[in-house]
Amino acid sequence: MRRTIFTDEHELFRESAAEFCRRHVVPNLDRWRQEHWIGREVWLEAGRQDFIGLAMPSEYGGAGLADFRFNQVLGEELAAASLAVNSALCLGVDVIAPYLLELTSEEQKQRYLPDFCAGRLITAIGMTEPQAGSDLAGLRTRAVRDGDGWILNGAKTFITNGTNADLVVVAARTGEGRKDVSVFLLEGSAEGFSRGRKLEKVGQHEADTGELFFDDVRLPSWSLLGEEDRGFAYMLERLPQERLSVAVANVAHAAAALGETIAYAGQRHAFGQAIGGFQHNRFLLAERQTEIDATRAFVDQCVAAHVRGELSAVDAAKAKWWSAEVQNRVLDSCVQLHGGYGYMDEYPVARAWADGRVSKIWGGTNEIMKDLIGRSLGLG
Ligand SMILES: Cc1cc2nc3c(=O)[nH]c(=O)nc-3n(C[C@H](O)[C@H](O)[C@H](O)COP(=O)(O)OP(=O)(O)OC[C@H]3O[C@@H](n4cnc5c(N)ncnc54)[C@H](O)[C@@H]3O)c2cc1C
Repeated sequence: MRRTIFTDEHELFRESAAEFCRRHVVPNLDRWRQEHWIGREVWLEAGRQDFIGLAMPSEYGGAGLADFRFNQVLGEELAAASLAVNSALCLGVDVIAPYLLELTSEEQKQRYLPDFCAGRLITAIGMTEPQAGSDLAGLRTRAVRDGDGWILNGAKTFITNGTNADLVVVAARTGEGRKDVSVFLLEGSAEGFSRGRKLEKVGQHEADTGELFFDDVRLPSWSLLGEEDRGFAYMLERLPQERLSVAVANVAHAAAALGETIAYAGQRHAFGQAIGGFQHNRFLLAERQTEIDATRAFVDQCVAAHVRGELSAVDAAKAKWWSAEVQNRVLDSCVQLHGGYGYMDEYPVARAWADGRVSKIWGGTNEIMKDLIGRSLGLG
């Protein structure tokens, strides 16, 4: 089905994003997986091509393309190449950029945006803690007033880009109320800020997922983002875009694996015929293709709503959980249709399957998405 939300400009942009992946991502993937690290050069190249500061104004080095369809196109191409690289880069482009653009003073913009847009600043966001993930209001990291600044103590875990981040958006408790949380910009070199081990995951081995520790870290007055104690609202306001970004990646990632599997099913023979020719497998592929197409149509409509400024938190939650469900179902079928090869790490579908499992967990679990949707139905 022809997708109707893009203009020629978006399609041209897709060619550049696809070329970027072909030249700067795909050839490096095996090495990055072995090294357990995505090379900093990919951020710099993405910066040179204006991808990181997509929505940032040109006076700060951005591309001035404040239209989420460009983010979507970039996210789709990156996810088709590698979900880990998508999450590492799109975390900056889709998740951190709105904090840096919308909640910063002119002084903060001058200090960070040019380097961010140029890809010189790897960024991360620290919400999750060892004792508080889904229940974000239960976070324990605390920033206490000290002169005109704050002293930060606590810990974060599962942080994407955590061990290499130059700048971290940190959520910390600043008051006594359950939702008295503020968000701060923490520079990587700050005294008392240390990184724990880089976490070993079941997939996305190239991605940098780490622990952060804050031991009497002094935060200067200008490190506060927006207003004190408003952090919880700031995070909630920005979660729909984060979840939409994840939904975009989920669909593109699954579609790429399914494309490979359809080709494989056409050339792998058993019992004298291509395995894709068995009715069971043809039906299976037909079901998965339909699920992808229908999900993509919904996600496209969510993107169109977001561009109009109308995307609700509930629709973003629907897009996020449903796309993760479909993605995982597709990836499981892809592995199955590859037989034993589908379980071999050297096969892209095997990696995609392991890489994609986290989609039902990060950015808010599927259960939390359904809880949000269920409440919108007046239940609970
Ligand atoms: C690879 C990876 C990268 C990540 N990157 C980041 C990052 O960059 N920044 C960041 O801040 N966080 C990040 N996270 C953390 C992620 O967002 C959390 O893991 C997620 O929100 C779940 O929190 P939790 O792990 O504490 O699970 P818990 O909250 O302990 O949940 C455990 C289980 O209980 C279920 N559950 C909890 N509450 C309810 C409820 N009310 N109803 C029904 N079921 C419930 C959950 O759905 C889940 O199945 C990342 C995680 C991973 C794995």
